[in-house]
Amino acid sequence: MKLKIALALALSLFSGAATAEKIALVNGTLINPGPSQIVRDATIVINDDRIAAAGDGKTISAPKEARVIDCKGKFILPGYIDTHVHFFQSGDLYTRPDAVDLTKVRPYADEVAWIKTNLPDTFARYLRSGITSVVDVGGPFWNFEVRKIASATAKAPRVAVAGPLISSVSRPQLDLGDPPIVKIDNPEQAREFVRKLAAQNPDLVKIWYIVDKDHPVDSFRPIVRATVEESHARKIRVAVHATELETARAAVEEGADVLVHSVIDKPVDNAFVKLLKDQHTILCPTLVVFERYGRTFANKLNLTPEEKAWGNPEVIASLDVTKLPPGQLPDRIKTALADPNAALERIKKVYDVALKNLKTLEDAGVTIAAGTDAGNIGTIHGPALFREFQLMKEAGLTPMQILQCATANAAKLFGGETGAHIGKIDNGNFADLIILRSNPLDDISRASEIDTVIKNGVVYSVDSILR
Ligand SMILES: [Zn+2]
Repeated sequence: MKLKIALALALSLFSGAATAEKIALVNGTLINPGPSQIVRDATIVINDDRIAAAGDGKTISAPKEARVIDCKGKFILPGYIDTHVHFFQSGDLYTRPDAVDLTKVRPYADEVAWIKTNLPDTFARYLRSGITSVVDVGGPFWNFEVRKIASATAKAPRVAVAGPLISSVSRPQLDLGDPPIVKIDNPEQAREFVRKLAAQNPDLVKIWYIVDKDHPVDSFRPIVRATVEESHARKIRVAVHATELETARAAVEEGADVLVHSVIDKPVDNAFVKLLKDQHTILCPTLVVFERYGRTFANKLNLTPEEKAWGNPEVIASLDVTKLPPGQLPDRIKTALADPNAALERIKKVYDVALKNLKTLEDAGVTIAAGTDAGNIGTIHGPALFREFQLMKEAGLTPMQILQCATANAAKLFGGETGAHIGKIDNGNFADLIILRSNPLDDISRASEIDTVIKNGVVYSVDSILR
């Protein structure tokens, strides 16, 4: 116990090292997407790590001792939140040997070592992208260490985490002794595993509800039920990967709090929409990830300018499949390269369903939280969120709705005490905000025109973040 207190003290001293101060942002336009609030000529007062006052500049004045930042012509928003990332994956070509085995080109142990060494760089790329909080929805037990490292690192987002995924299938290729995916065979095993996870104080318990002809929806359902019961008894929420309509329906009927992907096999029906609304289920669409495996393998990758500029260059360089040694091409990549149009056609089919479903759920008032599944092959940690915004726009969401998904709604998914104090510029909330050079409500593409990022009351001009 003493050790724990000492550690907590050390962490708090360390995180205070980047000096927070009293700051006043004046003359800018404040946008709080949650309540669709727009305040022109606003004043925002930041005291240390918290927002002390925010609103009309005529009623709020900057304290004398405050450092004043003139935001004339600029737009101030809560920092973005990506509610679906995986820090145990780099986004490079070698990060999922269970999908394409390239371990002869780069051993998986080397990949994992690189990921651990580069964690501070990955954190900084989120801040550069204006993302001040993220939810890691599943990885090895090492994920809990990631959360601790992030909270002790100034240039890092706030991190909520789930531990290893509870699944009907195993992925031995990813098991170096601390596997990110654990096969659970019966409800009692599920309960035991939840108790083991609970000892680490997870923000979420994650289920990987994989359905195929060997694993029908109903065979795994009792395990979902036991996992939810055991988690809820400990006040831990449950997030479920379920991409087919019937799998997603079963998950929510069993009490899932979060669906971490879109439904991609068929249009959602009224009963499903009502179920999500009645249960207050949050859905995270992760549209970008659905195109990135296929496009990478077919050599048709469509990285945005933001991804090219702010993504990790080593990760991006690895994604050029034409640079692989010819003798080492896995079949999945060979097939994709032989017929790239087939890969693009498959992606289009997924989007034909997923984008319509997003619009249906948004119109119905289901809580949608923005997320990317960054870390998967081709989905770039940090700036992938701006490709997600483009796709949400294609689905028919307005800029304000998209920003709601990436702030106030995402804060709900983040959850806990921290989740209650992010996603909105409001008195008492954490001073996590971004200053944009132009108005994202005119065009969501402007959401990436970031001038300044403020995390935990510390001000970073964007050019200072990636060295
Ligand atoms: Zn994921």
